[in-house]
Formats: sequence, structure tokens, C-alpha cells
Amino acid sequence: MGQDSPEADSSDSADESTERVRTTKRTFLQGTGATLGAGMVPVGASSAFERSNVASPSNAVAEAADGMVSSVHPQATEAGVEVLENGGNAIDTAVAVQFALNVVQPHSSGIGGGGFTLVYSAAEDEITAIDNRERAPLGAQPDMFLDNQGEEVPFFDRHTNGKAVGVPGTLKAADVAVKRFGRTPLDELLQPAIELAAPGGRTVTVDEFLAGSIADNVDDGALTPTAREVFAPGGDPLEAGDELVQSDLADTLRTIRDDGIGSFYKGEIAEDIAETVQGAARSRKTGGSMTVDDLGRYNVAITRPTYETYDGDAHEITVRTMRSPTSGGYVIAQILALLESFDLAQYDRRSFDVYHRLIEAFQLAFADRNEYLGDEEFVDIPWQGLLDDEYVDARRRIIDPETATSATREPGDPFAHQPGGQYYTSPRDIEQAKHDGNASGARNGKGNEPRTNSAVAHPGQTTHFTTADAEGNVVSWTSTIEQLFGSGIMVPGRGFMLNNELTDFDATPGGPNEVQPEKRPLSSTSPTIVTRDGDPFLTVGSPGGWSIIHTVSQILLNVAEFGMDIDDAIAEPRVYSATGTWVDAENGVPDDAVDELNAAGHDVSTVDSIGNAQSILVKEDGGYVGVADHRRNGSAGSPS
Ligand code: GLU
Repeated sequence: MGQDSPEADSSDSADESTERVRTTKRTFLQGTGATLGAGMVPVGASSAFERSNVASPSNAVAEAADGMVSSVHPQATEAGVEVLENGGNAIDTAVAVQFALNVVQPHSSGIGGGGFTLVYSAAEDEITAIDNRERAPLGAQPDMFLDNQGEEVPFFDRHTNGKAVGVPGTLKAADVAVKRFGRTPLDELLQPAIELAAPGGRTVTVDEFLAGSIADNVDDGALTPTAREVFAPGGDPLEAGDELVQSDLADTLRTIRDDGIGSFYKGEIAEDIAETVQGAARSRKTGGSMTVDDLGRYNVAITRPTYETYDGDAHEITVRTMRSPTSGGYVIAQILALLESFDLAQYDRRSFDVYHRLIEAFQLAFADRNEYLGDEEFVDIPWQGLLDDEYVDARRRIIDPETATSATREPGDPFAHQPGGQYYTSPRDIEQAKHDGNASGARNGKGNEPRTNSAVAHPGQTTHFTTADAEGNVVSWTSTIEQLFGSGIMVPGRGFMLNNELTDFDATPGGPNEVQPEKRPLSSTSPTIVTRDGDPFLTVGSPGGWSIIHTVSQILLNVAEFGMDIDDAIAEPRVYSATGTWVDAENGVPDDAVDELNAAGHDVSTVDSIGNAQSILVKEDGGYVGVADHRRNGSAGSPS
């Protein structure tokens, strides 16, 4: 346990969970949210910490030798554990968890969305990334989120519109992952989800998180009538403790089970998706363009994850996470590089000195993120420059140890440290280069207006889950439909929500993250596998829009720099800051540190929670510790 870390340990958390949850179906599921009975809500479920000096709340923690599942929902974890018990490996298990999550948390992820998947294959001793980010349809245009006056369409109208729907990737990723790394047929992995969705199957009880999300979205027109009928049948919003039945979703999963994923990407479901995106959009006054051809063209990308080492006071780690089109890998790598030489362990973990340096590093990294990053299939991103030692040293020197400065919010010039010439960053740059007589289209990052990204005010909510098996295979998967309930559009008769991921593009064209046909919007998603001495050490990831990056970075620092165990590292209060003077600090960040931060020029607001991490740590003896964040009542489990 690191200095000043919370007092809770895993045995305490198990005891507390017994008190908080009066019924449990399976004893191996440990956690504050494990199996809620009707009307039962765990104490302290949504509010994270009291002010400092109060014992931290408990994460769900499980330990086992033969395998592990950590997800945000006990029935999804249970579906995964069943796969392990039936001889499936970690990849099969992750796929079953994803399908189950589609049913028990239909507002967070599913076959209508996309995500990023990291697989460590023990046989190959290699980490592979399966990028299942949604793509813009061929008919998408850079100005499609502008109105007739050239102004950005208000966010609510953008995100509930068919134009926001990207071509989904989750189902394709499931299929590819199992074919490449798994050993259980997809139809078997769909079975728990079918039973969870079907009437008369496994009972799913609406939990506090889903009930709150329904209440927040049901009355403002965010949900289409089909979705309203599922989540507010007869006009009555489902509440915590009510049963959730999704007959259409069960039928869709059966169709995929019986006819294969072709039914989704080019068959009858594809036709319904295309018709819905165009038709639902028409009813919302403008048209989405997605066609069956767009769905048929979709494929995942298999890539190698980013690589960054961090030599901490407690552990030297190698961090492997996703490359573009998520910003997560590069931004986390840059944050760690900026912070490494501060030797943060010399300070109290909850001191001004640590929080201030974190905040300033976040701001430096986000200034570059929002200026330079986009889908690397479409734009030349200076990722080597961003991580170049000289560049990082120069950026670190901008940080004033005592005072918040606006200088940390200005982008630097990583292209000056990037090997080779820049070829282009966007159509606007090509035009500018032609105008300047520069045939290569090169431009210098300096002198451009810092870009804002409209996603900041609208952090969506996704889900992270992670699995491991007895052979040492490990999966770390972050999956999303962007906002809660995605676009709010449910495919009639099919029972699943469509994402609104294309709102992660900049609404105003001209930058590296502008909309282009078949392009993937910039993400912050950061499923991560950390190795130590070449072997898997831990997995981690989180929902939370931009703040995913802050959540993952702080957990990594808590382990590698401050020597916390993974339970404490996840429980530790977090801070979040990116583009202005604003800083969000979780309850639990001490009052005196908040006062010092405000005095130094930061503008700190206290918030209940930032992120929701799930993690698996590999112990030295090869056994696993699974942790699910208390912030959303997750669940960790293993074979009995
Ligand atoms: N759309 C977000 C992203 O890709 C993920 C959703 C969330 O905010 O959790 O960054």
C-alpha cells in the first residue's frame, strides 16, 4: 500500500458487500453491486467519497488462480465466468461479457456501437489490438454538423440525429477475436445474452445506474418511440428493481446466432439499420446517409498497440494501449513521459505538489491532442514528435512548480521533432499549402489557432471490461455507443441502440478530426495492458470521454510510482483537467490541497466521481486479482 493510500483492503470490501447487498446469487461474485434484488440499492452506490479522512468505499475485488472477469455488471461477469468454467479462454469470455453487457446495460455498449480491444495471446507472447471503432458512412461530409448559417448544430440535435450514427464495429470485433484467438463458437457465446434478454430467461433487474439514465433521457426527446417503449413501457420509465425484458433484442441475437454476423452486416438486420438511420433521421428533420453498402464495407483494423515505458519509484512498467484513432495511447504516453522525472513519490500522494503537476501535464498533453490528433489513416499525426525526449523535456519546462500558467494550455510543435516531412493534416492544410506554394502540404503547428473540441462538454459513458484465463491470455476491452443510449435511436423490431459516435468528430471542419467519409472519429478510449519484465502485469481501462485518459494515467501512476496495490490505486480519488483553468476533483481530494490549487490559479470543482475502471492484476505467482470500481458497482469474479 502506498503512502497515504486508503485503508480499505479486499477482505474489508468483501465484508462490506455482504452488508450492503442482501441477496447474492453466486458467492464468487464480490462487489457492492453484485445482484441487486428488487428495490435494493447498495448504500453509497453513486456518491464516491465523503471529504477526506473518511474511509474509502470498497471496490469489488476477487482473487483466483485460474481466470478472472471484471466488468461493470454482475450478470455480465457471471456470463463470462460460465465461459471460463466451460473451458473457454479469455477471448471467448470477453466476447460473452460484451454480448451480456449489451443486454444488462443496453445504454452503454452493444452491437450498435464500437470500441477498442487489446488481446495478449500467451501462445504468441504478443499483444494485438482489434480496432472496432465506428466509421463514418461514405455519404458523410465535413460540414454535416453545421446549419445553413455555417454554425455548429447544437449538441443535443447533433447527437440524436441519424447523421451521428457511425457504422458499428462491436459485432465484427467479437467475430474476428474469436476466430483469431478463441476456441468457442460465437453462437455459444451469444447464449447467455439471449437468455438475459428473452422473457422467461434469466431475470435482469434494472439497477440504479440504468434507472437514472432512463430518468435522465426519457422526457427530453432523446429516445425514439421504439426505445421509449422498451425503457418506459406504456410511458412509465423503468425504475431500479423493475424487470428488464428485451424480446426484440433476444430475437436479434438469435438471428445472429443462427445466421451468422452476415445478417447484421449485409442481410436483413443491415437493411433495417440503414432504413432506421435514414428514416429516424428524417423524422428528426435531417437525413443520415448510412446504407447497407456502408455496413458491408466495414471491417476492424488489426494493429499493434502503443509502447511507453515508465520507470517509477515502485515499478518499471511498459504501457501498451491503443493507437489512433483513439488519442488515448499517445496522450497517456505523453503524460507519463512528462511526469516521470518529477519523481512524484517524494511527495504525499494527496498533496498540492502532486495534483498541480498532474493538472499541468494533463493540460500540456491535451493542448497537443486537440491540435494534432485524428484518424491516422487520414491525417499525418506527429506521434513520434509528441513522445520525443527533447520535445517532452521542453514541454515539461513550461510547468511552473507553484502556479497555474496559461502556457501549459498552448500546443507545442511536435512536428519539429518528427522524423520525415509532414505530408498533410487535413484538406484545409492541403489548400493552405497550395496557396503557400508548398507542394508537400507541410505546415508548422505553431501559429495555428488552438483548436477546441466540442466533445469536452459532453463526456459520454461507455464500459470497460477485462478477462484472463489459466493459460495466461488476457483481454482489455473498452466498448461504447458514445452517449448514454447512444443516438437514442433503437432499430425497430431489433431491440438495440445505435451509437452517436460521429459526434466525437469536430463539428467545425478544418482540423485533423473533421468528418470525412469512412474516417473514424477521434476517441479517448484507452484499454491498456501493462507489462513488467516482459510479462503481463495488469490491465486497466475506463469510460468517461476525455477523462478516460486521466483515470487510466492516475491508476498507472498510483501503482508504478506510489506503489499502491491495484485495489487502492483504483479507489484513490482522481482529478481531471484538460483545456482551461477548470479542474474537477473527486470528493476525497483533501480540502487543503483544493485550497492550495485554487490559490495557485486553478479553478477546482468537487465532483462525485471520475471514470469507472475495471482491472486485472497478474500476481508474481501467476494468479489474478480482479478489481471493479466502486464508482459504478462493478463486479469481479472467477471460476469456482
Ligand atoms: N465516445 C467516447 C470516446 O470514444 C467514449 C465514450 C465515453 O465517453 O465513455 O472517447
